[in-house]
Order: sequence, then structure tokens, then C-alpha cells
Amino acid sequence: MPHESRNPLSRLDPHAPLVLDTRALSRQPGSERKQTLTVPAPADFGVAMLGVPEGAEIELDLRFESVLEGVLVTGTAHVPLDGECARCLDPIASTFEADFQELFVYPDTRSGGNADDDELRLEDDLIDLEPVLRDAVVLALPLSPLCRDDCPGLCPECGVRLADAEPDHHHDVADPRWAALQGLTSDAPASNDEPSEVPPPGGRGESAPHQSTDRREGKQEG
Ligand SMILES: [Zn+2]
Ligand SMILES: [Zn+2]
Repeated sequence: MPHESRNPLSRLDPHAPLVLDTRALSRQPGSERKQTLTVPAPADFGVAMLGVPEGAEIELDLRFESVLEGVLVTGTAHVPLDGECARCLDPIASTFEADFQELFVYPDTRSGGNADDDELRLEDDLIDLEPVLRDAVVLALPLSPLCRDDCPGLCPECGVRLADAEPDHHHDVADPRWAALQGLTSDAPASNDEPSEVPPPGGRGESAPHQSTDRREGKQEG
């Protein structure tokens, strides 16, 4: 959403859920007002794999404070999150809490001579909280969300969720070309094959045979 450089001629829509009216707040510096409200989440409120579903309820605890230059808004947003684990693609449903603070400058105030394009201004006593919320929530979301910190992901061979699989889930060489090569070189007794793929006694296996082939996981962790 191109809110970063708002056209000064554009008007805020007083009916937009995140456009708030500050008229109830006295302009006397030091006066403050608290407000709690629930608003529907705007569209595209998240990153590719994790976000707030459009229309979901965002709870806001807000404090408006009159200062010399404008209105200082301090708040906390409680949002529901919906997404997909970047490793195992399981659905993720959780909640997120973001704190924010932003100064909305009175339109008739010169901000000490520094023409700051990022400065947010009141328009007809209205403030638009959406860009503030976006910065507080969307920028804080992980680009590769995980269903849990140690999610083992999917088996690169068969795609099964390794969290559901047997601890020593692995595949004997599946590629027929390798199988053929093995046949050529197997002069060892068949009864004692593949000692290296047997998990150590007492260990959990940790799917070590997969690690050499699991390039996708390595990329996400880097
Ligand atoms: Zn996962
Ligand atoms: Zn597998």
C-alpha cells in the first residue's frame, strides 16, 4: 500500500476503520485520552507466508496525548495470524502483539524547519493509523515462519512430514542408477550392509541420512 508518501491533497476517509478522530482530545499539551477499539484488518496485512487475515479483528489499546507539535499516539495491537510453516507447510495459527508510538503533527505546525517526508500529520483532526500499524506488525513478522522452532520439515525424498515419521525415517538409495552401481561394487557380505545408516544405540537418529540431500532447509536457515 503506497501510504509512505501521502499526497497532501488527498483526504482521509473518516469512515475508514483505521482513520481515527482526535477531536475529543483537548489540544492542551499534557492532556490525554485512552481508547480501546476493535477494527477489521486491512487487505494484504502480512508477508507472503504469514499475515493477518483480511477482516480479522485487530484489537487496539491506544493512548492519545496532546503535545506541542501534535498528537502522540502510543498503543498496542493484538492481531491474529494465519500462515504456513516455511519448512513443513503446516498451517500456522497464532497471535501477535505489537507496540507502536507515533507523533501526528498538527497541519499548521512547522516541524522545526526539517521538512520530513515521513512525518505523519493530522488532517481535520483525523489520523490514519494504518501505516503505523503496518510498520509495527508487518515489518516484525518473520519471512520464514515456523510451526515450531525445531520443525524438522519434510523428507526431501518422499515429502512426508518428518515430525510424523519414524525417528529413523530414511530411504535406502532410491535412484535406480545408484542401485545399479551398488550392485556392481557390492562385494561385501549382504548381511552386514549399510552400517553407517543405523542410528547409534540410544540416539534418536535425527534423520542424519537426509541431511546431505536437504538443500532447501539449509537455505532457509541461512
Ligand atoms: Zn513446520
Ligand atoms: Zn521419506
